[in-house]
Amino acid sequence: MARDAGVLLNGAGVDTDVDADLVIRAARAVLPDGERACEVAVRDGRVVEIGSAGAGLAGREVLDLAADEVLLPGLVDTHVHVNEPGRTEWEGFWSATRAAAAGGVTTIVDMPLNSVPPTVDVPALAVKRRAAEGECFVDVGFWGGAVPGNVGSLRPLHEAGVFGFKCFLVDSGVPEFPPLPLAEVARVMTELAAYDGLLVVHAEDAALVGTCAGRGYRDFLDSRPADAESRAIEGLLEAARRTGCRVHVLHLSAAAAVPLLAAARAEGVRVSVETCPHYLSFAAEEIRDGATQFKCCPPIREESNREALWSALIDGVIDLVVSDHSPSTPDLKRLDTGDFGAAWGGIASLQVGLPAVWTGARARGLGLADAVRWMSAAPAALVGLAGKGAIAVGHDADLVAFAPDEPFVVDAARLRHRHRVTPYDGCELVGVVRRTWLRGMPVDADAPPRGRLLSRGDVHES
Ligand SMILES: [Zn+2]
Repeated sequence: MARDAGVLLNGAGVDTDVDADLVIRAARAVLPDGERACEVAVRDGRVVEIGSAGAGLAGREVLDLAADEVLLPGLVDTHVHVNEPGRTEWEGFWSATRAAAAGGVTTIVDMPLNSVPPTVDVPALAVKRRAAEGECFVDVGFWGGAVPGNVGSLRPLHEAGVFGFKCFLVDSGVPEFPPLPLAEVARVMTELAAYDGLLVVHAEDAALVGTCAGRGYRDFLDSRPADAESRAIEGLLEAARRTGCRVHVLHLSAAAAVPLLAAARAEGVRVSVETCPHYLSFAAEEIRDGATQFKCCPPIREESNREALWSALIDGVIDLVVSDHSPSTPDLKRLDTGDFGAAWGGIASLQVGLPAVWTGARARGLGLADAVRWMSAAPAALVGLAGKGAIAVGHDADLVAFAPDEPFVVDAARLRHRHRVTPYDGCELVGVVRRTWLRGMPVDADAPPRGRLLSRGDVHES
């Protein structure tokens, strides 16, 4: 096999003397140390060698990306509500993971609620794993849930392989997954800190969240003010400070909370933060009354807030961007009446997250390496998936051929998630996912699915 001085060899103890199964030659690829031309050799589903352009790596199949394509690591989306079993009519593993693959997402981590039973004990995890088995086009891991009274189930779930635990500080939207009072959050954190567990939190203060009815977006927004997020995050940070537990703030919408988070991190509180493509893409001023496809909790806020979220991403206070893909049946979105009070709060976006974020990033002069850091490397790091989130020797060959300058208009009817409802319908975005590889094989939406079920601590033996 031809080599050159730029070749990274054998980082995972792999014998590189045997030809690769596949070599992808890319004029542009986003690697951990930046963007450059390279050749990526794959064997047995993993990257075994990365050579400079022209290295001439040998493989049974050698593929040149098109001139307008960039090779990216597959995205890792740690915030997806698959809803199966129990609410499979909302979304399921088959449809969600087909949508993921089409959007360049090669790993998802499924939220513990909206499926029935919720993933709050080991038997419920087993039920979910059985439902997912053989149904997944990409790799799938699972979060556990922390609800009132299940603190005794957390350690067994942790040992059974969940990546961490989700809790709500406010009504979750489904009765079988109640919120945790703050006092109980602290108890859960003390428990999790004992084995370095991770708590991921829907942070809105129930006392500051009101009700709303009718078609007015402003009324809905006013019912869930930024203060509700800031107040909840304050309480959470205080508990994290006392217990030493790792906490992660889910779907940050209120930019007003950014200084709190930055200050806590500066003093050593172990906190990380995510936001979502819809908070970075849309603005309250543009949302029509009755347009309940935009309803999510916390809500999409004003344009100035959106720009402040972008600044927090650029500054590194917000670590990552994940979808919070949370569909329901169209009737529950109440598109007919447009009643924001009655509509399901959740946005379907799994397939368009990358182009949505990239469109916004590109317009602000940011690079693909930024998008990859937010949507691949950082989420993989959050859940400790050491073999995902980068094009690197020893990592899974989860790869995406992305055409970053190709514009397209989102057509909800052509998306692969179960119901063709999304606020992105009709949006003009830039950046097309042309192909997705899972562990070195192209994902074929018409062939049997090849995704694996992942557990916490899954790393490659080397
Ligand atoms: Zn969610």
